[in-house]
Amino acid sequence: MNIILFGAPGVGKGTQAKILADAFSILHISTGDVLREAIKNQTPLGIQAKALMDKGMLVPDNIMIGLIRDLLGSECCTKGFILDGFPRTAAQAEALDRIFAELHIAAPEVVNIDVDEKEIISRLSQRYVCRRCGTIFNGEVDHLTLNDPCPRCSGTLYQRDDDRPETVQHRLEVYRTSTAPVKAHYEAKGLLRTVDGSGNVSQISGRVLDALKKA
Ligand code: ADP
Ligand code: ZN
Repeated sequence: MNIILFGAPGVGKGTQAKILADAFSILHISTGDVLREAIKNQTPLGIQAKALMDKGMLVPDNIMIGLIRDLLGSECCTKGFILDGFPRTAAQAEALDRIFAELHIAAPEVVNIDVDEKEIISRLSQRYVCRRCGTIFNGEVDHLTLNDPCPRCSGTLYQRDDDRPETVQHRLEVYRTSTAPVKAHYEAKGLLRTVDGSGNVSQISGRVLDALKKA
């Protein structure tokens, strides 16, 4: 089972991808997480990526495509995978088609999670992540502030640098101009399924699972 989770920043791709990865025992590949890990380890990729990510800009296509080619070609992906955050441009979508063909990977199920922009801005402004277990929380929904310990593991919570309001505006702009057009690529192939991303986490995962069942 190969799934692409698609949608604007803040629609809940990461949260839903973790749920699906557990449910189907397949690998969750988050390009954002891969880049943040590279930043933490201060690799050359991480240093280059940080400057771009902090401004809400995309990391160049050739770098991201190489990274995904290596990951999908490795052993870990033979049982299936969920792509979260890739493809983000038309060029990435075309390259992904070629990678799937080269590696004999079956056509993906593409689930587009749809949330309106006002809601996205409100969610990102209070998205907190646990430093220890990586769980994503929403300040309002989970009744938390940045000073509270993680309800799961007591780790400390932080806000991502790119969730600051100025950066969020730019990420949404980049989404509109560079990423949203990727929907047409999968729509033309009859692979795109759009689900309503409003409501709570379990309502949304119910809709995502329904969309996958129909596929
Ligand atoms: P979100 O979905 O909330 O925007 P991500 O964690 O998926 O967050 O991505 C964070 C940042 O990482 C992006 O704003 C971008 O700079 C970079 N990034 C992630 N995936 C890609 C990609 N496929 N192509 C280019 N840049 C990417
Ligand atoms: Zn935690």
